[in-house]
Amino acid sequence: MNPYPKPMGKLIGELSKLPGIGPKTARRLSFYILGQPKTDVKNLADALLEAREQINYCSNCNHLTEGETCTFCQSEARNRRTICVVESPRDVVAMEKTGEYKGLYHVLHGAISPMDGIGPDEIKIRSLIPRLKQDAVEEIIVATDPNAEGDATAMYLAKLIKPLGVKVTRIAHGIPVGGDLEYADEVTLSKALEGRREL
Ligand SMILES: [Zn+2]
Repeated sequence: MNPYPKPMGKLIGELSKLPGIGPKTARRLSFYILGQPKTDVKNLADALLEAREQINYCSNCNHLTEGETCTFCQSEARNRRTICVVESPRDVVAMEKTGEYKGLYHVLHGAISPMDGIGPDEIKIRSLIPRLKQDAVEEIIVATDPNAEGDATAMYLAKLIKPLGVKVTRIAHGIPVGGDLEYADEVTLSKALEGRREL
């Protein structure tokens, strides 16, 4: 016999679809949620829906935003002559945690991976080109992950952008090879940024 009322089974099922949440954690979270005041649970449900419905991608750099463009692209305080190219919005968060980087970003939403059939046109590379002129960009810092896909993407970007007279650098490999930029600690990432080399 199913030990849960139907709605609870549904809640456990939905929670266990989340990354890193196994059936055991999903059960624990469900019991926790059921023990909370209804207003708290409603706030959680509202936050989930609002985030999903109201957050879009910046029309300039593809980072997350509530409006048309993101806070970085709108900011007067950021150095518009430098663009750091990353694979995902999570990497923007990681770079910001270092407190070292003051330029703009360009989020590719992926990396080139011929093995998986992902070429330059499957990720957001083309939209970077008009930005170079628009903001008179002097340096592109490629901060893709230190793995085969990240390296292939960096090489492609260097080939595409260097002939346009813009310096292209790659962050140093202080980050463990095969690792994920997102999981590098702030000190490692700061050093990787500082030790970047021209491609
Ligand atoms: Zn933006």
